[in-house]
Parts: sequence; structure tokens; C-alpha cells
Amino acid sequence: MKNINILDSNTIDKIAAGEVVERPSAVVKELVENSIDANADAVTIEIKDGGISFIRITDNGEGIDRSQIKKAFMRHATSKIKSVEDLISVTSLGFRGEALSSISAVGKVEFLTKTKTDFIGTRYVVEGGRECVFEDAGIPDGTTIIVRDLFFNVPARKKFLKSPSSEGNNITELIEHMILSHPNISFKYIYNGNVKLQSSGKNDIKSCIYNVYGRDIANGLIEVKSIRDDISIHGFIGKPELARATRNFEIYFVNNRFIKSTLIDRALEEAYKDYLMLHKYPTVFLYFEIPSHLIDVNVHPTKREIRFFEGEALKCYIVDVIKNALINKELIKEIVEEYHEKPSVKESEINKEPFETINHIIESSYNNYYSSEIEKEDESTDINDKNEQLTLFDDKFISEESIKKHRIIGQLFNTYWLIEFENKLFIVDQHAAHEKVNYERLIKKLRNNENCSQNIYPPIVVSLSNAEAQYVTKYNENFLNVGFTIEHFGGLDYTISTVPMELLSQNPADYFHEMLDELMEGKNSKETETVNLKIATMACKASVKGNMHLSVFEADKLISELLTLENPYNCPHGRPTIISFSKYEIEKMFKRIVN
Ligand code: ADP
Ligand code: MG
Repeated sequence: MKNINILDSNTIDKIAAGEVVERPSAVVKELVENSIDANADAVTIEIKDGGISFIRITDNGEGIDRSQIKKAFMRHATSKIKSVEDLISVTSLGFRGEALSSISAVGKVEFLTKTKTDFIGTRYVVEGGRECVFEDAGIPDGTTIIVRDLFFNVPARKKFLKSPSSEGNNITELIEHMILSHPNISFKYIYNGNVKLQSSGKNDIKSCIYNVYGRDIANGLIEVKSIRDDISIHGFIGKPELARATRNFEIYFVNNRFIKSTLIDRALEEAYKDYLMLHKYPTVFLYFEIPSHLIDVNVHPTKREIRFFEGEALKCYIVDVIKNALINKELIKEIVEEYHEKPSVKESEINKEPFETINHIIESSYNNYYSSEIEKEDESTDINDKNEQLTLFDDKFISEESIKKHRIIGQLFNTYWLIEFENKLFIVDQHAAHEKVNYERLIKKLRNNENCSQNIYPPIVVSLSNAEAQYVTKYNENFLNVGFTIEHFGGLDYTISTVPMELLSQNPADYFHEMLDELMEGKNSKETETVNLKIATMACKASVKGNMHLSVFEADKLISELLTLENPYNCPHGRPTIISFSKYEIEKMFKRIVN
């Protein structure tokens, strides 16, 4: 049995001070954390009126020995630390010894507890800090605490509470995080008499996510798992399509404690930078195990913030782990995918015949497409074998490898290329793909400090507005870095004598104004690299706007190049470049496979 001690004043002074029970959700947080610290593996939380009139938490944990109960309700009474030194190695969720005393000071508390060794349990009632009852109670092992009429004796405080539904929502969110942070504990959450959330406690994070956030989110996750030195990161990160407009789905736990950290937020932002549009935030469920000497949890009374002693190294590590997970072929947006285990489809269960017909139609249309192209190139070519045909036009982009891997079926609506690739149908947005490929080539050159520019002769003259002229003058150096040589010609006229090599085929006059508009709309950054990247992004975006016609061969080059990129799945603005349907999904849509 653990002994409860009263902390000395020196320790008390070192503990982040502040009110911990300002609203019902804070009460629930403190009490559930007590149950977790008592090694419970089943916790039931029941609330009414947003927790204002009724909160009941029941656990099957260790309980408090009868001789220690009254002490537990004193200020600064805790069994979790003894002195300041213990703060360095504290691993429990609580340690301030203030929750029971503060809650019983502002509410009507009924506390029932029994340890394994106690013959009979105890019922202790404290209302507004006043002891009312201390008696035997026939109860199972564990602890139940009921808090009624919160702030009944502090009307000023009560006035500041929000509506019951809003206070209740805060509690629901808290329980969601509790379920995720402790997948090994079975939680049951009853809200105004109805079971709202329940978890199995079987230590299956994905099923916890499924229970709390539903199928769409559970289906869009990539697993991550990594250990470096003493630190481990595991959990799930959302594919880019799960992006949100707020950070509410950036959920992470450090040593099973739900926290908020600007350092981790920044790491997420950096890792997802190439995948998400501006002001979009990823969905992640990440679990960090960090040795207690590398963090300080004693920063904030609610312990929602912690300090990292080797923050920069941790940040780099996080970015690495997430980027690696994102560079994963499965990232291609699947149209439909089931969370549940897919049944393995037996060949014999699929009715082959109509399929062969469809394949035949697709193949013959493919051959027709190719034949017309090929005839233009070489009248004498035998057009019956498409693989052979492709090798005739051996090109540095179309390696033997990629021919085997992907097959262009044709183009849809003058925009989307349909491709068969490894048992899937891919649809590539030509514009997004083009933009992406141009951008990556340009960025590669920028990073390697290669010359990016190509002369245009004669230089073209553009007339700018005052604001545009100012912008161009201010960032002239950056434009030059990226490959644009812009010089004053007289009045508001400027000449452009070089453009980035990747954009050579485009006439800069066509897209220059649009590019400037976009650049000037955003926030002005001072960092050279940021400005350069922005110019490169906008230039690529603006330059592929026109409705360009690509032949199958050009498209094949483009797609081959796209597929060699580290992240082929999103254009520089985060828009998807590729979506896919798996054969399984197509067969399911045609009801050849029934779950
Ligand atoms: P702290 O959690 O910071 O130690 P609290 O005021 O929350 O302070 O609790 C005081 C003490 O009461 C705890 O240290 C613990 O020993 C005991 N206690 C509180 N709740 C429970 C519980 N549900 N089961 C077992 N012991 C508990
Ligand atoms: Mg506590």
C-alpha cells in the first residue's frame, strides 16, 4: 500500500501553482488521472448537466487504505512524490496533491474506496470542505467518487461556467483523449444517461481511434513506429486528405499524457509542408515515449504543457519519422477503402468472363490510341504488340522498368490520364502533374545551386503596376535566384531576359502578372529561401494554367517522371496529382465481391 504524505513547503513552492478545478472538465481530468495512477484497468465516467450537477467516476484500482483517506483530502497530500528531487523522475499523471482537497472544497463529494487488504470499504462524505460522514461501506475493490453541485458554495465561479452542453463537450473531448492515451484501459463514458463512448482496453490504438473518430479517419491512417536512442515514436498519421482547418486533430501524447506543444506542432507543419495547402493541418495520433530526465512536466498546473530539454533534436526526429511514413506509395488517395480486414478474394469466386470483355475493350482502345500516334512517327511499325512499340521509342524517361510497371489507357476530359499500375487504376491530373514535375526540377536546381535560367531572345517587355514594380524591385535578387532576370526598361516597363529553364516553353508574358498577383497576395516573408520557393511555386502554377495538349508519349514521359519523385502525390499547393481505385474496389463496385 502506498503512503500518502504532506509535501513540505520547499516542494510546494517548486510546484507549478494555479487553480486546477476551474470547470467540470478539469474535475473529471483530475479524477480520471487519479484512477489511472491507481493502476485501474476499467474506469467508468458518468456526467449529468455537463458535469455541473453530477460527476461519478468508478475505477477498479488500488483504492486508499482507510487510515489514509482523510489525509488524501488535505492540501498537498500525495503518495506520488515525496520531495523536490522526485519531480525529476515523476511518471504518474498527478503529483501536486491538490485535486481531492480543492474539489471537495467547492463541491459535495462522496468518496467510496476499498483496497484489496481492507476487509470492508469506507464511505467518506465532504461538502464544501466540511466532513460529514465517515463510515463502513460494503463495496468492491476500487474507488468511486461522486461530485454533486459543483461550485454550490462559490456562486461567482458558477456564474462563469458555460452552458451544460458546452461544458459537457469539453468533458467528451477529454474522455476521447483519455481513451486514446490509455488504450490498455477500458473506459465507459455515460452522458446524461446514455453510453456515449466505450473502449475495449485491449491495447489496440487503431480500434480506439475507430471508436472515437469513426471510420473515415481510421481508414486514412499510416502507421509509424520508430525508436532512436532513448526516445520512441509510434502511432498513426493521417494521409493528407484527412487535413483539417484547425489543429484539433493533431493529437499526441508524451508518456501517455495528452499535451499541447508548439515544438511538436512546428515539427508536424514541417513534415507535412509539401502535402498540405496553406492553413490546413494534419490529423495525427502520435505517442512519444521520452525518458523523464529529458522533459519537465512541472511547467503548468494542468500539466498540458511540457518542456523538452533537447527540443531541436526531437523536432528533427519527428520530421524524419513522419516524412518517411508519408513517402509511401499507399499515400495515393484511395477512393474507397474499408477499415475492416479485407476478405481475401478467391480467384474462383470472381466471374471472369465479363472482365475479359472489359479488358478487351480497354486494350483495343489503347491500341487504337497508340496506333494513330505511332503511325505518325513510323509508318512501317508493326502495331500489334504494344510493349514492343514502346521500346521502339526508347527514351531516358521511359525505362524498361516503368514500361513494365505502368500502362496508359487514355485521356479523359482532356485533363486526366488513366493508367493501370500494379493492380490499380490511377487517374493523374495532367495539370497538377505538370506543375509538380516542373516545380521539383526547379527546386532541385535551386537546392544544388545550379544555374536555373535560360535566355529568351529578344527579351520581352512587360508593363507593371506601381505595386508590381515595387515588388519586383524589392525581390529582384530572389527572382534572379530562381531564374528570372528582370530589369528596369523605363517608366513602368521592365524587361525579362531569362526565365527558369523548366518554364522555357511558356511565354512569361502570359503568366507573369498572374504570378505576381499570387505572390503579392500572400504574406511577405524575409527569408530568402522562403521567398525563392514561393516564386518557384507560383511560377510553376501560373505557367501550366493554359490548356496544354500532350500526346500519349509526352504524357508517358510526364507520368514516368512524376512517379520517380519523392512525393508524386500532391502538387506544390497540396492538391492531389493522383487518385486511385484498386482492382478490389472496382470489383466491389460491380458487386463481384460481396462482403
Ligand atoms: P495527487 O494525484 O496529485 O497525488 P490528489 O489530491 O489527486 O493528488 O490525490 C491525493 C492522493 O489520494 C493520491 O496521491 C492517491 O494516493 C490517492 N488517490 C486519489 N484518488 C485515488 C483513486 N481513485 N484510487 C486510489 N488512490 C487515490
Ligand atoms: Mg490527482
